[in-house]
Amino acid sequence: KYEHVKKPEWLKVKINTNKSYNRLKTLMREKNLNTVCEEAKCPNIHECWSERQTATFMILGDTCTRGCRFCAVKTGLPNELDWGEPERVAESVEIMGLKHVVVTAVARDDLKDGGAAVFAETVKAIRRKMPSTTVEILPSDMKGDYQSLYTLMEGDPDIFNHNIETVRRLTKKVRAIAMYDRSLQLLERVKEIAPDTPTKSSIMVGLGETKEEIIETMDDLRAHKVDIMAIGQYLQPTKAHLNVDRYYHPDEFTELKAIALSKGFKHCEAGPMVRSSYHADEQVNERSAQ
Ligand code: SF4
Ligand code: SF4
Repeated sequence: KYEHVKKPEWLKVKINTNKSYNRLKTLMREKNLNTVCEEAKCPNIHECWSERQTATFMILGDTCTRGCRFCAVKTGLPNELDWGEPERVAESVEIMGLKHVVVTAVARDDLKDGGAAVFAETVKAIRRKMPSTTVEILPSDMKGDYQSLYTLMEGDPDIFNHNIETVRRLTKKVRAIAMYDRSLQLLERVKEIAPDTPTKSSIMVGLGETKEEIIETMDDLRAHKVDIMAIGQYLQPTKAHLNVDRYYHPDEFTELKAIALSKGFKHCEAGPMVRSSYHADEQVNERSAQ
């Protein structure tokens, strides 16, 4: 029996705060940028920033118009759009020498295009400065607005990532405003716009879902042509957030990964510390610098 109610040993990692990590932290403050790596206190930050040359930038401000019950990002009315942000992100990608960059954002339901134009500008700015860096975008569902999706795709990302986050039954409890079917439709529409762009989606486990429901979500994602899946352990960011229902054993993640691959996903990362952007650099073809 794999059940665990207390935080197990394999999740107790000490964040390694070495020199290069501190240098990058300072860079983020200087450029007035936010990363999910820092905001979410991601346990993989040392590995990603120092060894894998990967980072996840969170653009469009640090305030989200939604309030998902698992997420530590603050909710409220965001600031004005910052059109200097795309260039500053690109400069940081260059200074950090990143091999792979993930661009995500808070949900901006206050904007007509959900922030899609700034998203596309950010990808284009990175492309101009660092043509060999691969770029993954991880937007919200843009409230299902397809025009915004077209705008998003203008940057021609190497991966389109949109997280379904949890199984169908728990969506209402876990996510705010987002809808399970709307997320699936969004992922499928990307394939209609750009059939060769790999699509990706992630779920967190430990929120009360059953194994059958996880498998059903895999089938739903595959039915909407999703290529890559990530499965990680949900961790409660503060006491005000949803409780962890249980901690999955690493062997269970190995089993889930095998099931996902048998369903036809080209890649699946699954593990206690796996995040949507974990080992993302392995999921794209290298771009050759022009
Ligand atoms: Fe950042 Fe993602 Fe790496 Fe975590 S897994 S440190 S969020 S790039
Ligand atoms: Fe967090 Fe994204 Fe939900 Fe906003 S939409 S609360 S950033 S998970």
